[in-house]
Amino acid sequence: MTDILSTGHEFTTIYGRNLLAEIPAIAHRPYLVVTMPDLWEKFGHCFTGRHAGPYLVHTIDGDELEAELASIPACQSVIGLGGGQAIDVAKFIAWSRRLPLFQIPTSMSVNAAFGHRAGLRYGGHVRYVGFAVPEAVYVDFDVIAAAPPLLNRSGVCEVLCYHTAHADWRLAHDRGRTPPKWPYDQRLVDAARAVMDRVLAGLDDIHAVNEAGIRTLMNANRWGGATFHNAGWNPCHIEGTDHFVFYALEYFTGRKFLHGQPVCLGIVVGAMLHDHGADTMLAAIRRAGVDIRPEAMGIGWDDVARALAHAKDFVREAGLWYSILDEAEITPAFVDDLRGRIEAAWGPWPG
Ligand SMILES: [Zn+2]
Repeated sequence: MTDILSTGHEFTTIYGRNLLAEIPAIAHRPYLVVTMPDLWEKFGHCFTGRHAGPYLVHTIDGDELEAELASIPACQSVIGLGGGQAIDVAKFIAWSRRLPLFQIPTSMSVNAAFGHRAGLRYGGHVRYVGFAVPEAVYVDFDVIAAAPPLLNRSGVCEVLCYHTAHADWRLAHDRGRTPPKWPYDQRLVDAARAVMDRVLAGLDDIHAVNEAGIRTLMNANRWGGATFHNAGWNPCHIEGTDHFVFYALEYFTGRKFLHGQPVCLGIVVGAMLHDHGADTMLAAIRRAGVDIRPEAMGIGWDDVARALAHAKDFVREAGLWYSILDEAEITPAFVDDLRGRIEAAWGPWPG
């Protein structure tokens, strides 16, 4: 979809099969494959010809990566092969060395392949650094379909979160609390809504991880990656309470999550607090097949209750933009209501 609001581009994205086998013929040699150990084991045999070997990602700490750069083998191009981390580290290396980049996402879990910046950690905090436009993003149907179903389905979070983002941005506008650099823009909201509507119409295909579903979700995530830049690095139409709840859960539990689960939980929390479309969003998440029961993420309802109870202080300390979390009182009764709705949709956690 072309964004009428800017002259920016979405990344060239190619759908097909047997795409990894073509890399040796097209990548500038020797090429470096940036990936994870398990993925190299699975797909390493595809990367023949003159390559500089794999670079197996073991850190996403920006300072550690910077220090390691000189010892990474010399190469003429960079191939990112993975979910989020390998894709981001590939961006960082390509950016640092000014090399051509080819991205091959191995699942649909996040939209990292479609954004310019690498989400690295500095002192434990995420910072988006660099600027890398890939020659192409190769979406191989067989590679994606081989990833765990939940990993693929959970990628709907990156688009369904537009629902809460819009309610938050509208609220901030009504309260006179939008950041000065990001005044409310109905055109951005409408464009994002149109993208989200296509994902809502394709939930069954996304659940099935079939060709139509892969195209629908990846095209939506492609738009999402580009619009952040196209809108002048403005995230207000694509992210809000949904992601803030995830950040709070990560902060208060110290746990690592599959991105889409806590973000989808945050969508339901945000929609309930706004009293806007919570049942619709819960049904959509259920239909896509993303289990948002806390137990499915390895935490308990007490963890959710604690993170939500402190969410207001958390978003202020983190300096996040205005959302419903800034003004809502999250009571034990709210958490009971949330639990009731989620367990009505999925059933109580067994055991
Ligand atoms: Zn996200």
